[in-house]
Amino acid sequence: MKKIILTGDRPTGHLHIGHFVGSLKNRLLLQEKGGYDEFYIMIADAQALTDNFGNVQKVRDNVFQVMLDYLAVGLDPNKVTFFIQSEVSELTEFTFYYMNLVTLARLERNPTVKEELRQKDFEKNIPMGFLTYPVSQTADITAFNATIVPVGDDQLPMIEQAREIVRAFNNLYGETLVEPKAMLPENENAFRLVGTDGKAKMSKSLNNCIFLSDSPNEIKDKVFNMYTDPNHIHVTDPGKVEGNTVFTYLDVFLRPGDFEKYLPEYKSLDELKDHYRRGGLGDMKIKKFLNSILQDILAPIRARREELEKNPDKVFEILEKGTEKARKVAYKNLIKLKTAMGINYFN
Ligand code: ATP
Ligand code: MG
Repeated sequence: MKKIILTGDRPTGHLHIGHFVGSLKNRLLLQEKGGYDEFYIMIADAQALTDNFGNVQKVRDNVFQVMLDYLAVGLDPNKVTFFIQSEVSELTEFTFYYMNLVTLARLERNPTVKEELRQKDFEKNIPMGFLTYPVSQTADITAFNATIVPVGDDQLPMIEQAREIVRAFNNLYGETLVEPKAMLPENENAFRLVGTDGKAKMSKSLNNCIFLSDSPNEIKDKVFNMYTDPNHIHVTDPGKVEGNTVFTYLDVFLRPGDFEKYLPEYKSLDELKDHYRRGGLGDMKIKKFLNSILQDILAPIRARREELEKNPDKVFEILEKGTEKARKVAYKNLIKLKTAMGINYFN
């Protein structure tokens, strides 16, 4: 079986460090390891419109911003095909046929959809496009016969639903589609990186993000205002590490050598955590430490981003080329799909 990777992001804002650890890092890993047959990254503008239909300009502008983020983290157009979802119209045809294979009840049961409907206050007035976005996501994946989908864990219900649709299709029309598998990050805290507010997952829609494009000052302000342990008032108070955003981020972002460089009086994160639990370690110290680490990680990404931003034509050229290639592949697979269904009238 071919190894085909596909994943994507909604152009609803700049990419943030949740995307970085939740999915971009795995993409980079796959890119470096090689050994795959095809690798697609889709900017899901049509999906973004399902809950931003009144704000097309925002979605349009962010196509460019997301593409800048991709290139800035090191995704390589020589190894990856980047494309814009709405420019591959075959995807809507796939979606149309898959709609027959899903019930309304099943879509309403999808836990991620349920949660997002609540967040967006859509419960009483559900836009059909939004409710059915898991079906269109199945179309995106299967139109390229993707086998591996690197995602954060909020996407697991989507992949499960895609697998169900694939099975339903194959049962009805014969073995045609392959069941995709999700690829999660290694670090469990990165499955769904919490926002700087410590509440829900870091998400463009929730205003709790550190963006890859943030300036050094923005990063610092966000880290210094981060949610810690509300009962840890005085330095001498014992503090809680679980649910403390600074420690969650340290778990995810700490790199070998960081203690030696910025906090040589400690040898390991466990030692730092123990001190915090005992009392006597202030929030400022751990926030400064985290800030130094994040600044180190984000500085080269920001620099590359600023460089790329000067040349929008070149960035769009990559997208245009990729989209052309994606269209050809999706068309070929659409013909296969329709042939399996028996709706190939003229050949
Ligand atoms: P929106 O609020 O518009 O839905 P988002 O921040 O949830 O935006 P998406 O474009 O929906 O971002 O998600 C893109 C990818 O990034 C998905 O694979 C998703 O699982 C992953 N992802 C998003 N947020 C996080 C996070 N906080 N931690 C880990 N992975 C994440
Ligand atoms: Mg999302």
